[in-house]
Amino acid sequence: MGKASVEKLNLLGIQEPVDLLFHLPYRYEDKTRITPIERAMAFQHVLIEGVISKSYVTQGRRPVLVVEVVDDSGVMQLKFFNFYYSQKLKMKPDLTIRAYGEMRYDLHGKSIIHPEFELSPKTKLAETLTPIYPKTEGLNQSTLQKATAQTVAWLQQGHFDLDELLPAEWLEEQDLPDLKEAITTVHAPPADADVTALMGQTHPAQQRLKIEELLAHYLAMHQLKTQAQSQQAPPLQVVENDICSLRQRLSFELTNAQKRVVSEIHQDMAREVPMQRLVQGDVGSGKTVVAALAIQVALSQGKQAVMMAPTEILAEQHFLGLQPLFKSHTVSYLTGSIKGKKRESVLAEIAGDGDVIIGTHALFQDDVQYRDLALVVIDEQHRFGVHQRLALKSKGAEGQIMPHQLIMTATPIPRTLAQIAYANLDLSVIDELPPGRKTINTVLLTNDKMPQLAERIRNALSSGEQAYWVCTLIEESEHLRAKAAEDTHAELQSWFPELSIGLVHGRLKADEKNQIMAEFKAGKTQLLVATTVIEVGVDVPNATLMVIDNAERLGLSQLHQLRGRVGRGDRQSHCVLMYQAPLSENAQTRLQTMRNSNDGFEIARQDLKLRGPGEILGTRQKGALAFRLADPENDAHLFDLAKRLAARMLKSHPELCPSLTDRWHKKGQELAKV
Ligand code: ADP
Ligand code: MG
Repeated sequence: MGKASVEKLNLLGIQEPVDLLFHLPYRYEDKTRITPIERAMAFQHVLIEGVISKSYVTQGRRPVLVVEVVDDSGVMQLKFFNFYYSQKLKMKPDLTIRAYGEMRYDLHGKSIIHPEFELSPKTKLAETLTPIYPKTEGLNQSTLQKATAQTVAWLQQGHFDLDELLPAEWLEEQDLPDLKEAITTVHAPPADADVTALMGQTHPAQQRLKIEELLAHYLAMHQLKTQAQSQQAPPLQVVENDICSLRQRLSFELTNAQKRVVSEIHQDMAREVPMQRLVQGDVGSGKTVVAALAIQVALSQGKQAVMMAPTEILAEQHFLGLQPLFKSHTVSYLTGSIKGKKRESVLAEIAGDGDVIIGTHALFQDDVQYRDLALVVIDEQHRFGVHQRLALKSKGAEGQIMPHQLIMTATPIPRTLAQIAYANLDLSVIDELPPGRKTINTVLLTNDKMPQLAERIRNALSSGEQAYWVCTLIEESEHLRAKAAEDTHAELQSWFPELSIGLVHGRLKADEKNQIMAEFKAGKTQLLVATTVIEVGVDVPNATLMVIDNAERLGLSQLHQLRGRVGRGDRQSHCVLMYQAPLSENAQTRLQTMRNSNDGFEIARQDLKLRGPGEILGTRQKGALAFRLADPENDAHLFDLAKRLAARMLKSHPELCPSLTDRWHKKGQELAKV
């Protein structure tokens, strides 16, 4: 391999040949046989071979090169959206062409878009399935294929060996191949291997590797949990009177779900080991008050509690919302934009008689010293990097004494996935919205319907309601995003000269942002134009209309978060998703899902289907797991099996556990930060 390729591999954490063997193919291409066109099925990858009957370029804004291929059984079109004219010239009628790609139906029947192809094919058909590796860091597929094939050959020749870490009796019991055989099979499937099973990821070789991967994951989680449980936390007894009087200060009754979650939290806090609880609750399910009821427990014992939010807007909102609930206590507020003398006095408060401290990540800078921190609440955790969470947690640590930790997220992931991903955390779910909430009415509208929409907005706003207009321009820079929002603001202002319209974006200073939010909250502005900075947490119950322009650019969870800004009061709310037609298939599914469902968990399930768990956990949660092989949707039974095996392994073969976790989590110290 060239030096450049080796460097790229290193970036992936692949240092030695043996690491390459654990960089596993995620699918296969079957180029071992030619499929008659008639038998090709939709969405199936097929290799076909036939004679070109004609080829032409379509007229229109975007020309398409169409090559019609005929074999003994049928006709198929190969379509190229990006092509060179020289390519068109080569596609001469009567030539034989061999093509590989995913078959779909369109108006003209069977087709493959952008197939790989060979004219007048001379190469022999492949004898085995072709492994396809996750593409990474600019390495191309054939480089990875060649390097891995070479390594497998070395393994076969005995140049090095792989340690078998699963007890032989288990493999026999489950009828699974040993590691060397499994690894060889997945990288270089023998000609007689069960092709359907391999393609469907159910081959015993794959099962075995998945089980090992999951086993390693559960063992790592177990290790984290034991670590946490070996630490001590101040046991905080609940003072019922204080809790009751806090509840009386609220303007509403708790929902049953809130009551249940609060009691789970209170039980945790009374223990001598640090609470490590994740609260999942849909947008608007009322997580803040749950946090307040946890904070009260710390205060009753004369200790400090911290609440950290991912943005200044949110932190400010929590500060304003919680202060009146804790009137007899000192509530401090610290964010990055508080500087100089003011900051010094806040720091003195935190080190002294501050009781509740609310803020952003500024809360765990080195010079912030707490008097007696017993509870850390982290809101909307998916927005924080893992190392930030760790830093705050260790703030309160004195020797082995740790604060209790409560993590709240409005980005629901399906329970099965959550139990796997956060196996080291206890999970509470607020699965009920406060009574009287009306489901938000969501409509899809193409961009050219803007004028009709404008009328609707005018009507709603003139009757005293408020609206958000969200600009989604995904520009590289905050600067361009702000510019786009400014343009929209100017345009809307020219449409509605009678309205007062606010504008908030990421380029504003924190106090400017806060002021604009405050004006909107107070009803001084009727329409708020915003970038996605308003995504999380913002709570203005009088806002009943949200327009998201170019909604097709956003992912499901982000759309759901944004939409959650309306529907917070008792009036019917509306969300208008504007889009530019035509939509890609994926975008269409996303927008329809939004129209059909208001349920964050349902939306998360769809999101999981569209994007896969790796991407969901990987992007939201840098460092959290993304499985290489196992798939929480399709391998549910393996997760159960692996969990049971993990328990057995800890008992019967504890000596194997560390090697197993090391093998699969080389960079996996990361995992420890969840
Ligand atoms: P989220 O879970 O999205 O953080 P919030 O805590 O911001 O939700 O609560 C959303 C709104 O619902 C707030 O205005 C809050 O006062 C209100 N709320 C919370 N719990 C209840 C309840 N049990 N009954 C009525 N309103 C509630
Ligand atoms: Mg919230």
